[in-house]
Amino acid sequence: MKNLLLMRAPLKYIQGEGSLTHFYENVKSFGSRFLFICSNSGYKATHDQLEESFKGSKTFRKYEIFGGISSLGEIARMRKIIKDEKIDVAIGVGGGSAVDTAKASAYYENKRICIIPTVCATDAPCTGLSVIYNDDHSFNSYLFYPNNPDLVLVDSRVIANAPEKFLVAGMGDALGTYFEARACYKTHSLSLESGGISLSAMALCKLCYETLKKDGKKALLSVRNHLVTPELDAIIEANTYLSGVGADNGGLCVSHSFYNGVTSLNKKTAMHGNCVAYGTLVQLLLEDAPKEEYEEVRNFMVEVGLPITLKEIGCTREDAHNIALASCVEGESLHNLSGDVKVKELEDAIILQDVLGEEYLANAK
Ligand SMILES: [Zn+2]
Repeated sequence: MKNLLLMRAPLKYIQGEGSLTHFYENVKSFGSRFLFICSNSGYKATHDQLEESFKGSKTFRKYEIFGGISSLGEIARMRKIIKDEKIDVAIGVGGGSAVDTAKASAYYENKRICIIPTVCATDAPCTGLSVIYNDDHSFNSYLFYPNNPDLVLVDSRVIANAPEKFLVAGMGDALGTYFEARACYKTHSLSLESGGISLSAMALCKLCYETLKKDGKKALLSVRNHLVTPELDAIIEANTYLSGVGADNGGLCVSHSFYNGVTSLNKKTAMHGNCVAYGTLVQLLLEDAPKEEYEEVRNFMVEVGLPITLKEIGCTREDAHNIALASCVEGESLHNLSGDVKVKELEDAIILQDVLGEEYLANAK
């Protein structure tokens, strides 16, 4: 039977320089008592402009600096504040962990949820799921929500002032989106939200990739020099909206399984998006993609400083077997690939990419 098509997205998405000062006017209808669940740097980057947006309103605002990871304990602590303070709206301010803590707390307490990303390192803000950790920081589960956030608001000035490594990682996460969705579409696999993959989803994923190629380098240079430019705005949209809504409705494949395989090594490795980007090259090798396409992706990665060798993500060729083993466990998204993938096949592709990457870098010197 054919899968029913499904498209999900945030209720509202707002982006641009100075957007923080328009926060309240966009959430007025949600209630009058607000809890901001902030990372330390997220609080500093947004507090004053957010307060300006509330000027003259009769509202209650509480800013809570949160403990660094979306763990069961932190979520329980935030839920208690939501209950005790009779909060109407929870707002996650910061990176992936603040976002996920806020999403989970609001969901369990049945409150409105807004997201203010202060870095563009992953596509988490717009998706309808969270990664939840145990209090010892080990992985607990994915939590899937019935809806995507009520509002995602990004201030481009905040992103321009954040460290460039986050933007690069976000481009890596966004790089996987089109190729993973394309693989899922071919095999009639389900999206991340367990729906059929629509033409609309595919169009967003394709645009995500085209935007990265067109504006990635200029956006990187913009952040390096703290400039808000049209190119930076294009990449903020690609990393946050196109990649998030694209992955949610397009599905995942080898790139993200590769990342999960890398984390199973339990050692210090590169950020999520950097691993996803390397995994995308591995996927293209497994698919025997056209040479031109492979080179286009690799050239983009080199241009913006994404890793094309195992060394750059903190791994070795000896790790390839264990990465492949963990990437291929049942339920992993890599099984959406046409013809499926066996452990040895994946291991060999991971090493081939390292060989190709080393050779490319040696010749580029
Ligand atoms: Zn991702």
